[in-house]
Amino acid sequence: MTKLKVAIQKSGRLSEKSLSLLKECGIRLSNGDRKLKTEAFNFPLEILFLRDDDIPQYVEQGVADIGILGANEVREKQKDISIVEKLGFAGCRLSLAIPKDEQYTGLSYFNQRRIATSYPAILSRFCREQNLDVRIEEIGGSVEIATGIGLADAVFDIVSSGSTLIMNGLKEVEVVAKSEAVLVANKNLSQEKDRLLKKLLFRMGAVKQASENKYILLNAPNEAIDAISAVLPGMKSPTILPLAQQGWSSIHSVVREEEFWEVIDQLKEFGAQGILVVPIEKMIL
Ligand code: ATP
Ligand code: MG
Repeated sequence: MTKLKVAIQKSGRLSEKSLSLLKECGIRLSNGDRKLKTEAFNFPLEILFLRDDDIPQYVEQGVADIGILGANEVREKQKDISIVEKLGFAGCRLSLAIPKDEQYTGLSYFNQRRIATSYPAILSRFCREQNLDVRIEEIGGSVEIATGIGLADAVFDIVSSGSTLIMNGLKEVEVVAKSEAVLVANKNLSQEKDRLLKKLLFRMGAVKQASENKYILLNAPNEAIDAISAVLPGMKSPTILPLAQQGWSSIHSVVREEEFWEVIDQLKEFGAQGILVVPIEKMIL
């Protein structure tokens, strides 16, 4: 039987989230301990546990069919693979940072300076575009200590909260690229594997929709039903159920997480009471 081979990070920031995404898609893996590979027993899928740096190459060569990794790593490795879906976790940025007491004078600050990074390809492309003449010191990890030990004058690295930079006496001065976890795929998948990928993407879509939406229930006077329905259109239209108390109804609908607070304010103005908001586990449009 054809199996879709999925590469995920063996251990690191993406591992847990990648596994839990598969789990939320209803995929159960045959054992928890991470060997080199494991199989799902309710979906034709095989998981390969790899270093994230290696995933683009494995996917390009077809050793893995698809993979989950940071867009930053995809961009750095420049392999011939497709990004099929943004996954919305592991959000971060690739930034230039300099010692905090230095005065930053704009991009020309970096001219003739040494910049330490694990992302030499992205950095050199950026410097070429900006006509900067820099020396790139490529290092594998712990980039943030490079200025402190005299290896470089600046660093180019992943930043999320910025606390690592601060702890190392650095300040972020330029954001060069944004990143999040993405699903990548080999460009020549067989028809059968492509069908499996579509099936997986459908499930991922349902999980993502669910996380972006909330189920909302409230009580409202009947006069307010039209106004409330207008701000809570739901998937098709809201469900309206009469309450035992005359003149009142219960309204059920779905609301986007990002519109949530604004909608709640309007609902209160329309006289809604007893508003309940609950998470949705899966959502299929
Ligand atoms: P590996 O051993 O697999 O090579 P690694 O040390 O290169 O692991 P991690 O630090 O586990 O990688 O990070 C994996 C990915 O997670 C990064 O490529 C990036 O996309 C994302 N990431 C890294 N740091 C952060 C952060 N602070 N916040 C959010 N996402 C991050
Ligand atoms: Mg890595």
